[in-house]
Amino acid sequence: MYSARNRSRAEQPALSSARRSALKTFNVYSSLEAGGACCASRPTVAGEAAIPADKQEKSAIFAGVGAPQSREFERKSLRLSPEQYLPQRHRKDLVVLHFTAGTSCESAYRTWAGNPDRVATAFGVDPDGAIVEFFPAECWAYHLGIKGTHRHDQRSIGIEIANVGPLKLAPGDPRILNWWPGNWGVRYCSFEEPDRYHRSRFRGIDYFASMPDIQQHAVGSLVNRLCDQFGIPKVASNAARSGEFDPQAFDGYSGVATHSNFRRDKWDVGPAFNWDRLGF
Ligand SMILES: [Zn+2]
Repeated sequence: MYSARNRSRAEQPALSSARRSALKTFNVYSSLEAGGACCASRPTVAGEAAIPADKQEKSAIFAGVGAPQSREFERKSLRLSPEQYLPQRHRKDLVVLHFTAGTSCESAYRTWAGNPDRVATAFGVDPDGAIVEFFPAECWAYHLGIKGTHRHDQRSIGIEIANVGPLKLAPGDPRILNWWPGNWGVRYCSFEEPDRYHRSRFRGIDYFASMPDIQQHAVGSLVNRLCDQFGIPKVASNAARSGEFDPQAFDGYSGVATHSNFRRDKWDVGPAFNWDRLGF
């Protein structure tokens, strides 16, 4: 749906060296040209993505625990410019969890940057637990893609969890799990790496990429912080947790929900997210 087309590399703010080295810890450093990572532009439950394999992220690995603690919000290096979100302030009563279907907040940022459609979420959380604030949470942008109404985009704060999402058995080797680039042609992990995938069936998919503990803890602390700041109820219904598509029920729902609650064709946030991390 969306991609970073016309912003030249020179215009793109550089990541601080500390940040780059932190990400390198997890080998999650994307190739940047990747039209990388907003669930909105990735394969849906129904069909394959259009972006050719050679434009995809080159590396997508993480090495597990023992990484730097999550820090204060990263507000500089991946800040969207004002024309990429909407400044109107609406009362917030909803937090929506997404995954990026990519490997880093940086590649999500690059997908959105320069995109005239103002697609983005206010926050992203990287595998190393770093929290990125792409734009002020009081403002809004399109992140749900619901036909006919933007009311839920306006009343919600979106959080993109940097995670490749759904995995499929590699056509040539059933010991390998691939992720979606190149028509599910890119290796993500093997079955000998049980910490890298989560087995649970959701909307036709049996495997999802795991989310490191430090990342999930950061999501939990971010959600609690936003609920306190905006007076959003600390509620996550069973339907929200199970990813149930029920636009009627979620029309007036306040609390924490997921993209798949509003879209039948979405997988995120998916079964790899541990809702206990919210603490409520
Ligand atoms: Zn999403």
